Amino acid sequence: MNERTENDRTAPVLVPCADYAPETVRRALEEAIGAAGGLDWVKPGMRVGIKLNLCAAKKPEAAATTHPVPAAELTRMLKERGAEVVLGDSPGGPFVAPLMHRSYEATGLRLCEAAGGTLNEDFGYTEVDFPEGRSIRSFAYVDWLRSCDAVINFCKLKSHGMMGMTAAVKNLYGVIPGTYKSEYHYRHEDPMNFADMLVDLNEYVKPRLCLCDAVEIMEGNGPTMGTPRHLGLLLAGTDPYRLDRLGAALLGIREREIPYLEAAKRRGLLSAADPEIAGMAAPWALRDFQRSGATASWFAQSEEDRGLRKIVKRSMYVLFRSRPAPDRDCVGCGKCAADCPAKAITIVKGKARIDRSKCIRCFCCQEFCPTGAMKVRRSFVAKLTGR
Ligand code: SF4
Ligand code: SF4
Repeated sequence: MNERTENDRTAPVLVPCADYAPETVRRALEEAIGAAGGLDWVKPGMRVGIKLNLCAAKKPEAAATTHPVPAAELTRMLKERGAEVVLGDSPGGPFVAPLMHRSYEATGLRLCEAAGGTLNEDFGYTEVDFPEGRSIRSFAYVDWLRSCDAVINFCKLKSHGMMGMTAAVKNLYGVIPGTYKSEYHYRHEDPMNFADMLVDLNEYVKPRLCLCDAVEIMEGNGPTMGTPRHLGLLLAGTDPYRLDRLGAALLGIREREIPYLEAAKRRGLLSAADPEIAGMAAPWALRDFQRSGATASWFAQSEEDRGLRKIVKRSMYVLFRSRPAPDRDCVGCGKCAADCPAKAITIVKGKARIDRSKCIRCFCCQEFCPTGAMKVRRSFVAKLTGR
């Protein structure tokens, strides 16, 4: 585990960053990181791991992945302080060299090598214990990050099917090797339980710094096939929950609809309200951000739910919960069937077919569909009530 000390729980910052021109990004990064406590903790010879969001082998313009220019500029800043810098991620699917190389090429990440960084080539993992965990007490942790002295979480701000949005907290799901992710989804079927697992991972890894690329964000069918949208910001902070609270405020999403923020509150890791962050976000907040369509996660059962509340909440969840559904763009490639943790998908007459009785609404199929054919469908009641 990495140490996170005096800067814990400080407010995040946002800094305008109009585009991905290297000089613009460098200026914004310096300002944002400076306001978030600086980099004096980086010592010569220290091995710093930058955990990016490389959820799909997509070009930077798709806004699905952390843009290579901010990653490269951060690499430069760390190298100037004498650190050894390694960058990577473990997206869904096999965590193996050929697939990661494809991702490095597509996402433009080779730029970080020119800046002196190393793109991860260690695809091993180790089962680590975390007795303090609420949802997981041990998990498979990728060795490349385990071997680092400090972790920087460099995420992307996007819509997300299961969790409503993804930024810093959800980005750490990538510390679990891709092949294990399906299993963890299946074991944590309830969104609140999954959210608790994300909080466990954040509490274990304790990133020393969190950065969020919100220059071009993704809305709609996120986190991989949505629509890029300009926001023009870089976010920085030492507390992933408060940084994501800022992200939610910018996107105009209510916190109670983001299960992991609710989980952090229940565990005393996030205050009930945060006027400072609300004020910071207000001038930039989007009023018409298009969500992925999965709007009912906050009706999910939590361990505090008892008796009548449990029954009512369960009923609401069933009425409001969204579901995945392939549209006419489905080419029957079978990728969704291969990635589905519940084995709920079969390919029939060249199209994906979902067995709803088996589906756990994890939206992995939507995330990894290469054509964007798998959509999140809101329930009739959700549409009727405008949710
Ligand atoms: S991954 Fe997408 S295109 Fe391929 S079968 Fe599934 S829904 Fe169809
Ligand atoms: S069909 Fe899609 S949402 Fe349902 S369990 Fe499978 S991957 Fe998850």
